[in-house]
Amino acid sequence: MKRATQLATVAVIAFAMLAAQPASGYLADLTLPAAGGCPALDRWNISASQPLNRRWSTSLPLAPVTILTVAAQNSAAQLTEIENTITAAFGAWSGVSGTTFNATNYPGVIGPLTNVSAADACSNDSESNIDGLNTICFNQPSMGFTTGVLAFTRVITANAPGATVGSGPPAAFAGQILDSDTLFRNDGEATFATPGALSSTQGQGAYDLESLLTHELGHWFGLDHSAVWRAMMFPYAPPPGQFLGSRPTTNLPDAQLSDDDRTGIRMLYPDPNDAVNVGAIRGQVQPANPFVLATIPQPYPGASVTGIFGAHVVAVNAATGSVIAGTFGGWSCNSSNPDAVPQFDGSFDIERLPVGNSYWIYAEPLVGLAQPGDFSGALGDLCPSNSAGPCTMPPVDTNFNPRALPSGP
Ligand SMILES: [Zn+2]
Repeated sequence: MKRATQLATVAVIAFAMLAAQPASGYLADLTLPAAGGCPALDRWNISASQPLNRRWSTSLPLAPVTILTVAAQNSAAQLTEIENTITAAFGAWSGVSGTTFNATNYPGVIGPLTNVSAADACSNDSESNIDGLNTICFNQPSMGFTTGVLAFTRVITANAPGATVGSGPPAAFAGQILDSDTLFRNDGEATFATPGALSSTQGQGAYDLESLLTHELGHWFGLDHSAVWRAMMFPYAPPPGQFLGSRPTTNLPDAQLSDDDRTGIRMLYPDPNDAVNVGAIRGQVQPANPFVLATIPQPYPGASVTGIFGAHVVAVNAATGSVIAGTFGGWSCNSSNPDAVPQFDGSFDIERLPVGNSYWIYAEPLVGLAQPGDFSGALGDLCPSNSAGPCTMPPVDTNFNPRALPSGP
């Protein structure tokens, strides 16, 4: 997550894997299977019998201090206060109904939160420490902290079944997440405050630790950034002294999230017993003049560009006017064919919408604060691993004016 006031380089670090079976690292969203075929969604293979392991490093920067708390620095109470903030951030995601790790319906899928005292407990820039242990670090330096980057998450995924890291079990599928680590900036360029400290005088210049953690944990679970303004997964942090959404309560543990965030996590981990969030809207974003597409070269053998790539497509609840979900139009792939390659036909697919509602759909070019480079996990590279020939991704199309087609009877 980045601060909005400065342009920042992308904190995506791709890894070559050290294990015998190859795997690949992405910030989020999609993995290209080594055997070829359609891109695979990044997600955990977790259940009550194979819970998500999670821990945090209790090493905190003291000179300069970067984590502001109500409790005194370097006290046991401070660690409790930070751990409560981490628990609340996880609780946002496990509080979403309609997922396979919802804390009420599927308790124990998110394992207990443990801690470690070492400062460098997260995977580091030299590609070591990819241990299959999922860790939050507040005091580990990184080359990833370029100007404006407040925190980032490294997600390691398998690009083939059988891939392993550390002591973790072998992957069951391509796209399976094997390791997620979150690092917070520790060089004093930014300070972070717990909810209690944020509302105090000292917290006014600090970023909200709970908001940033909740955002980074969205990456843990496989979400890429969202272009929906006010979504927790929007790539830019709320200004110092402010937080996103509402603070969680016992009855609303996911109050920090937007509906777009909830729809996204339901899409990745759909609860088979969920009878509410089962609607879907699919379509294509097409230029009024299809001949403009003829100027875009074919990306690779067997693929063609027949629709607008990278349009932001948003579903809005027609009764309330609130955004329910956003996605990117651009491509489709027939996953039932193991040799299929993505076709750039402008397709979009918004899933896990609550039924019983009417929705408006609009498409807009990806211009504004969030730029195409903020969505590299979803739009950056869809070239199949087994492509027969060079691959050049079509550029994200930001040069169109949306118009609605008249609806039929
Ligand atoms: Zn992010």
